[in-house]
Amino acid sequence: QRFPVVVIGAGPAGLTLGNILRAASVDCVVLEAQSREFIERRPRAGVLEEWAVRGLERRGLAGNLLARAQRHTECEFRFGGQRRRLPYAELTGLHHFVYPQPWLVTDLVREYADVRGGDIRFGVRDVRLHDLGTDRPSVSYRCPESGERRVIRCDFVAGCDGARGVTRAAPPAHRTRTARHDYGVGWLALLAEAPPSSDCVVFGVHPAGFAGHMARSPEVTRYYLQCPPGDDPANWPHERVWAELRQRLAAADAPPPAEGRLIEKRVLDMHNLVVAPMAYGRLFLAGDAAHLTAPIAAKGMNLALHDAFLLGDALTGYLTRGDEGGLAGYSAACLRRVWDYQEFSQWLAEVFHGPASGDPFRAGTALARLHRLFDSPGAAGAFAEQYLGGSPLGSG
Ligand code: FAD
Repeated sequence: QRFPVVVIGAGPAGLTLGNILRAASVDCVVLEAQSREFIERRPRAGVLEEWAVRGLERRGLAGNLLARAQRHTECEFRFGGQRRRLPYAELTGLHHFVYPQPWLVTDLVREYADVRGGDIRFGVRDVRLHDLGTDRPSVSYRCPESGERRVIRCDFVAGCDGARGVTRAAPPAHRTRTARHDYGVGWLALLAEAPPSSDCVVFGVHPAGFAGHMARSPEVTRYYLQCPPGDDPANWPHERVWAELRQRLAAADAPPPAEGRLIEKRVLDMHNLVVAPMAYGRLFLAGDAAHLTAPIAAKGMNLALHDAFLLGDALTGYLTRGDEGGLAGYSAACLRRVWDYQEFSQWLAEVFHGPASGDPFRAGTALARLHRLFDSPGAAGAFAEQYLGGSPLGSG
């Protein structure tokens, strides 16, 4: 078999890319290790920046999102027993769109496979990449039903297989460089069957550790609790979780978080990672396969979409018009936004974690950053711009 493009991974990056290629009549196949039911239910992110939503809209991929997503206009910091709101939409004219990742993935799979007639193979095993440094690469995988190994010849491979995929490690070690930053903390990521307790994202900055509240849908809310890295979720029974959330999110006039059954409870070791360049030969990496940002500033899914927009346009330009410019500039164009978001995440992480670090100097400077956000309109404006990721016209 032969396809111009093989896309590995059906997350937000791979599916958006597949849709862009199909719309330009570029043939491709998407290979996904999990089943369709699994990827349509996997809970993860939920916050999209306005430029990303407009990028999806321009490509005919935001119909359901625009009809169903909540639009958020501000976020709230709770510290020292007070609550302070930062009205980012007023400051930038831009919104956050709250739309659970499984809903977006469901929309993208439907559009790719059922509407645009794209080829997608679920449950593939043992994906391997071959001859990436030549102009005749190929991808092989083991078929889930027969166990037989199939080979697909192609012109390009898009590595969109997330943080634990195989494509990041495919280039020879001396051809890529991995930069990693470890925060030295864990976050207990929780999903509660409970309505949101606030109409916006809430960041609880507390000496006992950070706590976060993020709406997902009217029935489900995501919470985070800072914990030691590598902590065991079993150390966090229902009663302890809700007691810590009540304590760390407490502020004058703030109602306690609405309690509900915990349907997800896992510990994330907070680290960031960037692979550069994001291309080797005929392989182009996109999304979490190339870079990870801990969910501190809700950036990961947005970056995955940014890469997919650029890669989709670059591959289409090359395969339909012979234009090499997009592919040549792909890695540098992606990495510019990636590093900008990494720097913002690192800045915000220090605000969240400094007060519980046990180091009075870090606690003092973290609180100074927080106070500056509310004392200085310039600082508030800069924060809002970075939190929203900039102009909807800028990129994507
Ligand atoms: P993925 O979504 O990981 O998709 C990769 C796909 O490849 C998967 O379907 C996987 O099954 C498949 N795959 C893996 N290996 C193989 C293989 N060998 N062969 C074939 N297929 C394979 N981001 C935000 O922007 N906002 C948030 O609020 C936010 N919150 C988050 C909360 C949590 C708890 C977590 C874990 C992440 C969060 N993120 C958030 C990050 C966001 O979920 C990711 O950045 C996003 O999923 C990246 O998309 P992707 O398409 O690059 O990778």
